[in-house]
Amino acid sequence: MSSGYYTRAAAVASRLLAARAAGAAAEKALWEKAQNAAARLKTADEAHDRGEIRTAVHLYVRLAMSRPPNESSLAAKDRLGTLADEAHAKQAAIDATLAHGEPSPGEWFVNQDDPQVVEHLATWKTTVESAFEKYQRLVSDYEVVPSLGGKLKTHVDHQRRKPAIAMVLNEPEAKTLLETGLAHEAAGHHCCAYWVYRQAVQLAPAPSATKAKARLEIVEKVPHIEALAAACREMQRCHQIYARAERALPVNPDRARELFAEVTRRAPADSEVCRAAQRHLDQPATQ
Ligand SMILES: [Zn+2]
Repeated sequence: MSSGYYTRAAAVASRLLAARAAGAAAEKALWEKAQNAAARLKTADEAHDRGEIRTAVHLYVRLAMSRPPNESSLAAKDRLGTLADEAHAKQAAIDATLAHGEPSPGEWFVNQDDPQVVEHLATWKTTVESAFEKYQRLVSDYEVVPSLGGKLKTHVDHQRRKPAIAMVLNEPEAKTLLETGLAHEAAGHHCCAYWVYRQAVQLAPAPSATKAKARLEIVEKVPHIEALAAACREMQRCHQIYARAERALPVNPDRARELFAEVTRRAPADSEVCRAAQRHLDQPATQ
């Protein structure tokens, strides 16, 4: 995967995961340290004021569920209502950053040498990436507020599908696929290029998806491409089965033999993967 949104998003995600694990431990300690419901409510309020929203939300949810209902559990419920409003306000603020500066569809594929257009697209890219980092944080912080349910995540998914946004977020993956396809073509593997381009096209309207579509239309004109592509896919499956067989070999030799046999039935007899599978089958089952 090339650098860009996905790499950064992955970094953000792994930071969130680490923070989450640390948060869960801290949460437990806070919960146990507080001697009673009132103290726990205070602990949650303090976490919220420190900006540790996720921790605060978890503590409020636990308190709100405590039985029998008491002054603190009712207060916690109340706080959760306020937090839902807070989440909505934050979501609206992020939405607002995306409401302006969207490029016009005509601009997406225009002359990349026009400095004004280049600048506009670069600014838009930064806007989208920064908004989606904030969305990710928002979902992580507030996802367990009961009245919000899955609504935050649904909203973010909806935003992600808007063309001007998908154009930015899908581009790194589309670019990688396009480059892979071009490399396959250069090596004369039109069948492999065919599948990769078909995958890339799904990422429209990313600019590289559009370029992949144009390449796909050319590859589709290669004689017998459909048969070649089908054989290519079958071969890829054979390689996957072979890999599974190798993994099964030390733990379940019988299963491994079944899988090697499947490879010899499916792969062309003169293929390397078929011969390798046959060699495994020819070996006496010693272990
Ligand atoms: Zn192929």
